[in-house]
Amino acid sequence: MLSYEDEKFYKFLERMVFVTHQSNSYDREAYVQLIQEICEHYKLARGEAGFYLSADHEARGEGEIFCDFDNGNSDHVGVFVRIESKSGAIIIGKILVPEGHSFDDPKAKDHLEMLLRVILGWVSRSRLQQKVEEFAYSDERGYPNFRAFARFLMKKNRTNGLGGMVSMYFDLHNYTMVNSQIGRAGGDLVMRNYYNMIAEAIGDTGILCRLGGDKFIGLFERSARRQVFEILSGVPVLYDEKNGKRIRVSAAAGVFMMPKPFMIRTPSDIMDKIMVSGAVAKNQTDGAIVIFDDKMKSERERIKKVQSAFHAGLEKEEFKVFYQPKVNVETGELVGAEALCRWFQNGKIVPPMEFIPVLEIGTEICDLDFYMLDHVCRDIRRWLDAGIDVVRVSVNFSRKHLVDVDLLEHIMEVLDRNKVPHEYIEVELTETTTDVLFRDLKRIVSGLQERGIWTAVDDFGMGYSSLNLIREIPWNVLKIDKNFVPKDNEPENRVASLMFKHVTSLAQDMGMECVVEGVETVNQLDVLRSNHCSIAQGYFFDKPLPVEEYEARLLRKYYELPEGLIPISESEQPAQTAEPGHES
Ligand code: C2E
Ligand code: MG
Ligand code: MG
Repeated sequence: MLSYEDEKFYKFLERMVFVTHQSNSYDREAYVQLIQEICEHYKLARGEAGFYLSADHEARGEGEIFCDFDNGNSDHVGVFVRIESKSGAIIIGKILVPEGHSFDDPKAKDHLEMLLRVILGWVSRSRLQQKVEEFAYSDERGYPNFRAFARFLMKKNRTNGLGGMVSMYFDLHNYTMVNSQIGRAGGDLVMRNYYNMIAEAIGDTGILCRLGGDKFIGLFERSARRQVFEILSGVPVLYDEKNGKRIRVSAAAGVFMMPKPFMIRTPSDIMDKIMVSGAVAKNQTDGAIVIFDDKMKSERERIKKVQSAFHAGLEKEEFKVFYQPKVNVETGELVGAEALCRWFQNGKIVPPMEFIPVLEIGTEICDLDFYMLDHVCRDIRRWLDAGIDVVRVSVNFSRKHLVDVDLLEHIMEVLDRNKVPHEYIEVELTETTTDVLFRDLKRIVSGLQERGIWTAVDDFGMGYSSLNLIREIPWNVLKIDKNFVPKDNEPENRVASLMFKHVTSLAQDMGMECVVEGVETVNQLDVLRSNHCSIAQGYFFDKPLPVEEYEARLLRKYYELPEGLIPISESEQPAQTAEPGHES
C-alpha cells in the first residue's frame, strides 16, 4: 500500500506530466498552481530552472533563468539537477530551502529530484524548439530574416489577405559612411533604431525583415504607408542616448502597391517587383521611393535582352572603338584620345548609356573593357608600324575590376601580346564608395604606374569623389566631369564655377595633368585657358570618332584654334588674384 507521501508524490507527478506534455500550449496557470503546491508541501523556499545553449554559454552565465516560486526564505541548495541535451544545451534545476530545513520523509528528496527532472525535460524541449524557431527565422543580429518574410507573406496569401497591402525593399543610404562617421557600434545602434521606427509604423499587421547588410524588405497595410515613407525619406536617428546625439538616416526604396484582390504563386512574384523598383530608386537622390509600374517591367526585359545578346555581340565584333581627341587648349595640338565604346546592333548604333550600366549589373563589363583594351592596342600597334605619330589612348575600366586580384597581370598581358609600349595606354577609373574597394583602387593605380601605364581618375566631382581620393592615390591625370564645367553666361561667382577654378588649380599644384570633359563652346575654352587647365576633351573639337576619322586627325595633328580667344598671358592676372596662395 502506498504511503501518504508516496500517494502525494504520484499525484504531483501525474499532474506535472499532464501539464507539461501539452508542450506547445501549456496551461500556465495550472503549472504555476502546481509548482506552488509542490513547494508548499515540501516546505521549499525557491525553485529555479536555467537554460543555456551550450556549456560555454553556461560558463559565461548567459542563459535564461526561470523562477516560478520564491517565498524569500531561500538559503541553501536542497536539490540540484543538471542535464545536458543531445544538442549540447544545458538545463539546470535548483531547489532552495530555508536554513535548518529537513525533509519530513526520507524519500522526499528523491521525489523532488524526479519532479525536477520532468520539469527540466520539458523546459529543454520547449526552449530548444523556440531557439530553433529563432535561428530559422531571424538572422545573427536578431532581425527577422527572409524566411520569416516569406512565411508571413504566404500566410496572408493563403487567407486572401494580400489585396491592398504594400510591399517594399530598401537599403540604407550611405550606410558605410554612417559607420565610418560614428563607428561600428554606433552604426549598429542606428540601424536597430531605424528598424524599430519603421517596424513601429508598420505595426502588428505587417512585417519588416532584414535581407542582409543594410538591405530590408517589408509588408504592411496601406494605411501605414505615409508614416513609413516619411521615415524612409530621412529622419534623425538617435545613436548616443546620453548626449542626445543623432544622425540623419534615409533609404532608397522600391515599393509595390498590391491591387485588390491580389494573389501570388511564390514570394518571387513580389520580390521581382520591389527589387526592380528598388534598383531604380538607388540611382536617384537619397531618400527616393520608387513605386513599381509596368514600364519597369519592360525595362527589366530590356536588361535581360542586353545581357543575353552581349556575348554573341562580342564574338561577332559588334562593338567598335570610337576615339575622342584630347586637345591642348594653348596650342591646339592633339595630345591624346579616349576610347569609347559603340555597339552596332542590327545596323543601329547603341550608345554606351544603354548597355554599360546593364553590363555593370553582372561582370560582363569586364569582358567588354578587355575587348576594348585589346582593340585599342591593335590599333596603336598598326599605327606604330605605319610610322604614324601616335598619342596616348585612355581606356575606361569599370570599378567591377577592382576585386580581380590578377587585374594588373591581365592588363600587362594584353599590352605585351600586342607589343604596345606602356606609355601609350592610360587607364581611367572612377571613385569608389567603400574602404575595401578604396584599398584595391590604390593598389591597382600604384601597380599600373610602376609598370609605366598612365592612370586617370574619371568623372572627378561626381558621385562620392573625396579629396582623399586624390590625396592618397597617386593619379597621373584628373578628369573633371562635364557637369563641373561652367556653362556659358553663368556668373563667375557661381559655386560650380568657383569649384572648377579651385579644383583645376589643385590638380596642377599636385602635379596632375588636368583634362576637362564636355568642352562645347568658345567661352568654355576661354575658361579653361584662363584657369591654366591645358587639356580639353569635348564636342568643341570633336565627338567620339570612328577609327578612320580619328586616324585622319592623328595625321593632321593640330586643331585650328578660333580667332578672338583671350590671350593666355593676359588672363593670368585674374587667376592669380583669385587664389593668392597658388602659383600657376
Ligand atoms: P566617360 O568615360 O566620362 O566618357 C565621356 C563621355 O562624355 C562620353 O560619353 C562622351 O561622348 C561624352 N562627351 C564628350 N564630350 C562631350 C561634350 O562636349 N558634351 C557632352 N554632352 N558630352 C560629351 P559616351 O561615349 O556616351 O560614354 C558614356 C560613358 O559610358 C563614359 O563616360 C564611360 O563611363 C562609359 N563608357 C563608354 N565606353 C566604355 C567602355 O569601353 N568601358 C567602360 N567601362 N565604360 C565605358
Ligand atoms: Mg572616361
Ligand atoms: Mg568622364
